[in-house]
Amino acid sequence: MKVLTDIRFEPDVASLMGEAHVSAGSAEAAEFEALLDMACSVGRPKAAYRECFIDARGDDAVTIGGVAFTSRTLRMNLDNVGRVFAYVATCGAELDRVHRPTGDVLAEFWWDAIKAAFLGAAQGYLNEHLTGTYRLGRTISMNPGSGDVTVWPIEQQRQLFALLGDVQREIGVTLTDSCLMVPNKTVSGILFPGDHNFRACQLCHREDCPSRSAAFDADLWEATRHT
Ligand code: SF4
Repeated sequence: MKVLTDIRFEPDVASLMGEAHVSAGSAEAAEFEALLDMACSVGRPKAAYRECFIDARGDDAVTIGGVAFTSRTLRMNLDNVGRVFAYVATCGAELDRVHRPTGDVLAEFWWDAIKAAFLGAAQGYLNEHLTGTYRLGRTISMNPGSGDVTVWPIEQQRQLFALLGDVQREIGVTLTDSCLMVPNKTVSGILFPGDHNFRACQLCHREDCPSRSAAFDADLWEATRHT
């Protein structure tokens, strides 16, 4: 497993305040900037990845680096792929150790937005590192738990973490019994070359999702035969 820790976080404060619904020049803006300063003084975004190769393919499964994954969509997306990159990117556990007053719902919302920005820095750095180092061109990423529950069940986080190695020791990310990651602003997945614009949202029935990046695709749903 390779670890990336030299990740700079240079927030676009105005944009971040916009996302957090904070008006520039307001009293809230001063509070928000104080939180952001605190986060910047301790936050250390990180990422880890492992270059892996496809060992075997079945109808609904694919074995990668000796670890079997069950997902028809993953297997189909990897039909013409030999090498993949398993990864985890995180805002960094340091932000969860900051002592802050509890019970302030707005401050909690802001802190989560700041953590998300740290995660964005880690993801951006990791993507640039992988595409630059391995000359990948266009890529696709799949994440356990994204899309409808049957697309790539979240329980497959266990296999993904097993494939990566000791993620907790290397970058401080832990997996709970229910397969959620801590810190909460962490993403994991498998990235691979591909130019067919796959998005898990194409296989997600959730309505009114503010994060949807692609419309539901009935033809793709049928092709992947989820039940
Ligand atoms: S529509 Fe929303 S919930 Fe569904 S996969 Fe996309 S981002 Fe996730």
